[in-house]
Amino acid sequence: MHDATQRVMDRVIQLDPNQPEFIQAVTSFLGSVDKLVEDIPQILYHKVLDRMVEPERVIMFRIPWFDDDGLLQLNRGFRIQMNSALGPYKGGMRLHPSVNLSILKFLAFEQTFKNSLTGLSLGGGKGGSDFNPKGKSDGEVMRFCQSLMLELGRHIGEDTDVPAGDIGVGGREIGYMYGQYKRIHNKSVGILTGKGPSFGGSYIRPEATGYGLVYLSAAMLGAEGKSLDGKSCLISGSGNVAQYTAEKLLKMGSKVLTMSDSSGVLIDPSGIDADKLAYIKTLKNVRRGRIAEYAQKYKGATYIPHNGSASTNPIWEVKADYAFPCATQNEINAEDAKNLVANKIQLVGEGANMPTTLQAEEILMEGGVLLAPGKASNAGGVAVSGLEMAQNSQRMQWSPEQVDAQLLTIMKNIYSNISQAADKYSTKNNFVDGANIAGFLKVSDAMIAQGYV
Ligand code: NDP
Repeated sequence: MHDATQRVMDRVIQLDPNQPEFIQAVTSFLGSVDKLVEDIPQILYHKVLDRMVEPERVIMFRIPWFDDDGLLQLNRGFRIQMNSALGPYKGGMRLHPSVNLSILKFLAFEQTFKNSLTGLSLGGGKGGSDFNPKGKSDGEVMRFCQSLMLELGRHIGEDTDVPAGDIGVGGREIGYMYGQYKRIHNKSVGILTGKGPSFGGSYIRPEATGYGLVYLSAAMLGAEGKSLDGKSCLISGSGNVAQYTAEKLLKMGSKVLTMSDSSGVLIDPSGIDADKLAYIKTLKNVRRGRIAEYAQKYKGATYIPHNGSASTNPIWEVKADYAFPCATQNEINAEDAKNLVANKIQLVGEGANMPTTLQAEEILMEGGVLLAPGKASNAGGVAVSGLEMAQNSQRMQWSPEQVDAQLLTIMKNIYSNISQAADKYSTKNNFVDGANIAGFLKVSDAMIAQGYV
């Protein structure tokens, strides 16, 4: 690594040694863009890398709320306004007990380059809380979301920062947050994306991340003379991204063998077809149940309890053609990657953000697996969020077909850009380098053009 790049890395570790996820994201990124610093001296001269790893602003606040027993509960809220070089901060809110500054900084950092890859004018941000929505009543979730928005509302705006959903934040939570913002500020404006279609939401936004992942994977496979049709696929997770990845894979003629949640793994050798997927959607989105129930209903299926504490994840031991991690960060470790390579998996398409550890990434690429990194492959969600912002500004609503067609075009463009960047600056099919570099160049140019901010 170039001395100057190494100094940036060392400083991140020295300043925030207790932020492992952020350090991991920066390590992967600097490993890629280091290939540019000799060729583009402005990067060092303008200290672009030093500035990029430092959020423009971090907001941290308390969120008091009343539970159903009338007891006061307290959570911690965050918004990371990472980089506004390309436009208003944009990135989801995550509600999960694991949420902390390290996780949100890594997500906001990745988001900056992902948003750049979409080709839209969007800066990078992320936020959330350590609130655990599991087991909470609708009333508790609503009171929590209202309290969160009471503070968050001061820091966002349709031209400033536009949050969306992420783990634990779907249509229900966005609706409660939007309603509260409107009540406080007396304005119906696009300050959040992922809204219901009856009050400013875009069609295809719920589907966008999963559909986009499949569109990009299809483009990547197509370039190798391969396709999704008739192929077996592993999916982890059973939330928003997992569900719509499964839906689109089924439409492309693939067979989906697995899904999971944070308690365990479901394996259905006969395939999770459209009817079974509809059952999963009701189970998870309406009844807010556990994936284990599927194995009681569909007899051929197996459920393996797995809460992440074992050294390997049983989902990645199942033989298949392609794998789509759609749950959370670092869900494929080095041992999992070895299992995937041993089973001759041909593509890992990341629906989740940073689901693969640095070591696992290396093992997969050395094993000849096509690796579609999250900042490119799951960019469809934020892309359609960008389209939702455009519709809100116009006070228009585009048809599902119009939005889906634009999503497909955006994902094909992302594939083409990361593939060209890999060819030019790294090695063919190193899409990790390709995504980091293609995402970085646009942000870097904008930062230099805007002076020292
Ligand atoms: P959801 O909350 O809808 O679903 C998350 C799924 O992952 C659930 O099945 C959940 O299980 C499981 N999960 C969550 N945390 C863990 C964990 N620590 N270990 C094992 N399983 C876990 O979230 P999304 O589908 O929206 O997000 C999934 C991933 O995709 C995240 O990495 C997110 O950042 C990324 N992403 C999401 C986008 C979006 O548009 N929603 C856009 C781009 C990326 P359980 O049901 O038990 O909680």
